[in-house]
Amino acid sequence: MNLQELENSWIKEFQKPLIIAGPCSAESEMQMLETAERIRRSGANVPIFRAGIWKPRTKPNGFEGVGVIGLNWLKKVREEYGFKIATEVANAHHVEAALKADVDILWIGARSTVNPFTVQEIAEALKGTDKTVLVKNPVNPDLALWIGALERLVGQEVKNLGVIHRGFSTYQKTKYRNVPNWQIALDFKNQFPKIPLIVDPSHICGNRTGLAGIAQEALNVGYDGAMIETHCNPDEAWSDASQQITPEVLAALIKNLKLRNLDI
Ligand code: PEP
Ligand code: MN
Repeated sequence: MNLQELENSWIKEFQKPLIIAGPCSAESEMQMLETAERIRRSGANVPIFRAGIWKPRTKPNGFEGVGVIGLNWLKKVREEYGFKIATEVANAHHVEAALKADVDILWIGARSTVNPFTVQEIAEALKGTDKTVLVKNPVNPDLALWIGALERLVGQEVKNLGVIHRGFSTYQKTKYRNVPNWQIALDFKNQFPKIPLIVDPSHICGNRTGLAGIAQEALNVGYDGAMIETHCNPDEAWSDASQQITPEVLAALIKNLKLRNLDI
């Protein structure tokens, strides 16, 4: 099997645009349940709830995630509010724990996609799974590395794949936290039109004001959905506070998004 032969039928289960929302990090059971409850109450069409429980932080001695206890909170979110649940995995132990908890969607973070040994380890731990695995672009603007990560997964018979465009690191001062470099994601899309492509405006923008514009720009060029960090109390978030939004703001943002009219 190769990347071109994947059916990626997992995405057909969802309406477009597919919205994945939830906090950057799981912090407490209460924070998770309140965020999930308010997303549901807002009426927004959000089928997948995300939360990082192992957090790759730039500097040491900060909050690095609550760890496996967060899996219980994710499962509670699924049971009580009917979301599918998603979390980041960065090594084989994470994969093992996430599969044991029957997490629906696993994603590989930008700092892991850059490292072929890490991706290989994750891929081997996932061998043959029918779970959906989403691969964020590497932090550096390297399309081959992004594709290589997918090839490593396919090499281990992981068949339900998608990618997340979260922008690329730069030392230049720009209005973005991670510059979108749209062309890289579009080159990916041209090469692999059947692999679902999801935008992550939160990590591209690094602020709240740019989110809607980036999400709309992505839908305009045919992306399948967006992953948007959403927190019950964004200002007090333990990670990525400046880019997270409340469930109510998320609902308004989604309401204003327009799907590309494919007939044009
Ligand atoms: C995240 O989704 O919270 C995260 C750490 O993202 P990235 O890997 O894109 O930096
Ligand atoms: Mn984050």
